Amino acid sequence: MLLEKYSIGVGDRFGHQGVAQLRALKRAKDLGVNVVPVWNKSNREHMIIGTRPSDTRRAADEAVRGSEWKDSYYVDADHIGLKTVDPFLECSNFFTLDVADFIGMEADRSTMESFMRSMGPMCGSVRISGIPTPLAVNEKDLHAFASKYLLAVKEAGKIYRHISNGRANQDFVVEISTDEASEPQSPMELYLILAAIAEERIPIQTIAPKFTGKFLKGIDYVGDVVQFAKEFEEDLHVIAHAVNAFGLPRNLKLSVHSGSDKFSLYQLIHRAISGTHAGLHLKTAGTTWLEELIGIALSGAAGLDVAKVIYQKAYERIDELSKPYETVIAIDRQRLPSPREVSAWDSVRYVGALRHDQSNRSFNPHLRQLLHVGFKVAAEMGDKYLHLLETASEIVGQNVTDNLFRRHISPIFLGRS
Ligand SMILES: [Zn+2]
Repeated sequence: MLLEKYSIGVGDRFGHQGVAQLRALKRAKDLGVNVVPVWNKSNREHMIIGTRPSDTRRAADEAVRGSEWKDSYYVDADHIGLKTVDPFLECSNFFTLDVADFIGMEADRSTMESFMRSMGPMCGSVRISGIPTPLAVNEKDLHAFASKYLLAVKEAGKIYRHISNGRANQDFVVEISTDEASEPQSPMELYLILAAIAEERIPIQTIAPKFTGKFLKGIDYVGDVVQFAKEFEEDLHVIAHAVNAFGLPRNLKLSVHSGSDKFSLYQLIHRAISGTHAGLHLKTAGTTWLEELIGIALSGAAGLDVAKVIYQKAYERIDELSKPYETVIAIDRQRLPSPREVSAWDSVRYVGALRHDQSNRSFNPHLRQLLHVGFKVAAEMGDKYLHLLETASEIVGQNVTDNLFRRHISPIFLGRS
């Protein structure tokens, strides 16, 4: 099972927008660019919303059956570890092994020693095509690297073998993610991580490092764009080199866990991947739920009322809703409108505050982040919310398709802003 050159995370909290998302991918395909969908929903989101991994598989299969999508598609067990992977074994064919928690924990002495022995020959100066200065690795670097990352790679090996055994002969795609680590990984660290992954014999097809800067949920990149571009390009060169040097799968590519909507990076990423002919996996499905909310708010008085109630409840429960996401959101409470203020808004005002259009003066990234983590409120409404989704399905679907195609696929994969 070989993941295609370009892929994108799709799926949605409530499993209703698959067809609308595939429409966006079909549009790209009609323009000559094949981007395949990977349904993803992390264990965290399943827990919050009360769904199971098999629900994501069902949503994906139904969406593909109900649309004109004829190419491959994948269902991702997103951010799993040994403790959480089992319910995903049967229904996923893509596994994102999250080993960030193991970074910084040192492996036992004999593991460290045998790693140092086998990697010893790598010490020296490594010339990587595309990177002007050679990477210099000495024994001290290697030891420092191993102290920080070796246990994490070993853990990835354990998870990989557990999945392999659990899935008997069914093939699957492996991604390793370290994006939820506390520190970004440098291109040099990525190089050594890939060496260690090859040594561990994990046939990795995508890797999600932590990049420099902040990737908060549902809002634009916060950080040094120039530094990001430099690191991102170097990472692409490191991967191309590692594929040959360590015998990793030829389609190995970077995966950007974007937290959605990193608009200020899209052009840079497009330029970098088209300049090097590299592939890309972009995870960006979380804000589909906000497009649902936009569609509902635009669907009429009843829809707008529900959208306002969701804001009010999210506002009242901000501590609880923010907790699972505390490292990936930055809500300034002073800048949140009060529910009373919102209750007087018309749909244009509500959508203006929520929709990620930075040129709109009503846009409020704090309100947007709060609603982003507020899907639990909608989940608790149960059938009332789902019923509204169905009555508003046309306008919701238009918003989902348009957002995915115009704001994400088009700039990043087609190079059109
Ligand atoms: Zn991630």
